[in-house]
Amino acid sequence: MGNQKFRVAVIRGDGIGFDVTDATLAVVDAARARVGGFELEYESLLAGAGYFAENGVDVAPGTEEAAAAADAIFLGAIGLPAIRHTDGTEISPHLRLREIFQLYAGVRPVKAYPNVPQRLADPRAAEIDFIVLRESTEGLFYSAAVHDRCPVENDTEVQDVLRITRPTTERLHDFAFKLARKRKERGKRGKVTCVDKANVFRSMAFFRSIFDERAANYPDIEVGYSYVDAQALDLVRQPWEADVLVMENMFGDILSDLAGGLVGGMGMAACAEVGDEHALFQPAHGSAPDIMGQDKANPLAAILSGALMLDYLGDRSGVEALGEAAQLIEQAVYDGFAENAVRPMEFGGDMGTRAVTEEVVARVRSVRI
Ligand code: ATP
Repeated sequence: MGNQKFRVAVIRGDGIGFDVTDATLAVVDAARARVGGFELEYESLLAGAGYFAENGVDVAPGTEEAAAAADAIFLGAIGLPAIRHTDGTEISPHLRLREIFQLYAGVRPVKAYPNVPQRLADPRAAEIDFIVLRESTEGLFYSAAVHDRCPVENDTEVQDVLRITRPTTERLHDFAFKLARKRKERGKRGKVTCVDKANVFRSMAFFRSIFDERAANYPDIEVGYSYVDAQALDLVRQPWEADVLVMENMFGDILSDLAGGLVGGMGMAACAEVGDEHALFQPAHGSAPDIMGQDKANPLAAILSGALMLDYLGDRSGVEALGEAAQLIEQAVYDGFAENAVRPMEFGGDMGTRAVTEEVVARVRSVRI
């Protein structure tokens, strides 16, 4: 029997999206070649602000259908501040994809790498390794401008809606517990903390009660509870204690950036957006027009997002080689920093996008896990 083949829809997007996507595919291909056991077929799809400027629409015809048919979607970065719709909003077809495909689980790994600037003086900051799991389709973003569902529109009052639904919340918490279980198998703590404001809002008490219901199905996983304000404090005071933190959309929006700041910068912030049938992987940073086309972008957020994609495909298909390929990439990045052989310009180093990519590719070919 031949290797199983997976189709990946690739949207390079705008700005440094091109550079970091090409870097990611080079690293992913090196991991695939080393491990074997699966094939990847890339389909390039055109979308973004540049495409909009030339064609008047934000995606090429058939893009959404092709993305839907793929096993995973990889996205570089989308948006250019100078190119906007007539109402002033930025071009953001990726937010539409999140909505259409119901990508409710936003996974933001937060991990300290050696020799990457650490913002905390405490030596335990070197042990930071946790996940912010942000619900991404409802919560306080339900009525956000992008969805155009704000119920009141006049000059005297406005209300935004925080929506928590049972089906999405059950799926979200299940996702959190399964993620913690997987991390536990890889030597992590195996704890899920429900971050909310259940002492004040009924919506949050509901969110927490569903957390408790689902927790009963995962007796091997520790549970914790934290009010979001106390969690913000703890992310600065003792972030090394965190494992999987699950929360509503807006809380996740804020805490994931705070957490990202603890371990370097945007160039390290990987992201997976996962639904029941589809998933999209992208670096959490934007298109960084200030450094586009200059070989200055740090490609590691994208490369680590590529590793998340391989892991996801492995989980879905049961093809273990995919998980191994993901671990090779993570280890190559870690060792590269530890040996000071990966020195992105973002952190004052001397290595541009291509040099970082070449170093990671070389390490993926030889690293041990
Ligand atoms: P968006 O709203 O689209 O997420 P943004 O306004 O947050 O975008 P980014 O495009 O992420 O902005 O860029 C913010 C700053 O971070 C810029 O100065 C940019 O140069 C820097 N930056 C972002 N990504 C990287 C990267 N991969 N490597 C180096 N610097 C980066």
